[in-house]
Amino acid sequence: MRQLGKSTWVLEGPTNIGFYETEGDVILIDSGNDKESGRRINKILKEKGWRLKAVVNTHSNGDHIGGNDYLQRNLDAPVWATAGEHSFIERPELETAFLWGGREVKELRNKFFQARPSRVDRILNEEGEIEPGLNAISLKGHFMNMIGLETGDGVLFLADCLFGEEILTKYGIPFIYDVGAYKRTIETVREREASFYVPSHGPVTEDIRPLADRNLALVGEIEETLLTLAEGESSFEEILKGLCDRYLMELNAGQYALVGSTVRSFLSWLHDQDLLDFAFTENRMLWKRR
Ligand SMILES: [Zn+2]
Repeated sequence: MRQLGKSTWVLEGPTNIGFYETEGDVILIDSGNDKESGRRINKILKEKGWRLKAVVNTHSNGDHIGGNDYLQRNLDAPVWATAGEHSFIERPELETAFLWGGREVKELRNKFFQARPSRVDRILNEEGEIEPGLNAISLKGHFMNMIGLETGDGVLFLADCLFGEEILTKYGIPFIYDVGAYKRTIETVREREASFYVPSHGPVTEDIRPLADRNLALVGEIEETLLTLAEGESSFEEILKGLCDRYLMELNAGQYALVGSTVRSFLSWLHDQDLLDFAFTENRMLWKRR
């Protein structure tokens, strides 16, 4: 546990978890991967003598809501989330249905893709005060209605609006749902003042600009690569293969779902920008640069 401000702490790990404490009452920012993470949080609360007031989920991905079920069962913790994320938290099978574009293959039925369901008790606005000293900011892009949290003592929790260098190197391409919103969000966050910035996956930093620039540059690079791959006429599968080869990624069912979904989102974005077009030839959907 690292203290970042008078009321704000972070438990650093595979998913960084925030603790915002006032007079012994804690609002948790995300709950981590699974039951184990819920257990660790519970232990910390006990050690500190804190009460859990609520869990705020920045968004509905399994690595952010995985501890909800444990905390709800054991501490009766209310879960708060935005309207767009709430259905996914209550019905995690929507996550895999969304990623796969239909009923998922059985290889996706695991805790990474399908967290245990939990009940959402309060719907949050995407912008504005949640509690005194704790504000939501909209961070659309990585997921549909993701939010970040800004604390009164100057800490900005950034969820998955950008990723640390180590994660980018390891995975090659981050998950992106809405490319236009993703870029706008990073540009906004880049200019936002804070004493500490906390990405969910990456080190806490006092200057977010280098990481914002790195993440933005990567999006530009992916766009260019996709446009080059569609110079001839290419199917989605050919484009996906080209991109994975370029970033030295090896696909399995999970990666195929995640990277595939991201590539489809990029193709839609480039089509919206009139940079790519598609046509159906002999029942194949082929993409072509305009
Ligand atoms: Zn995440």
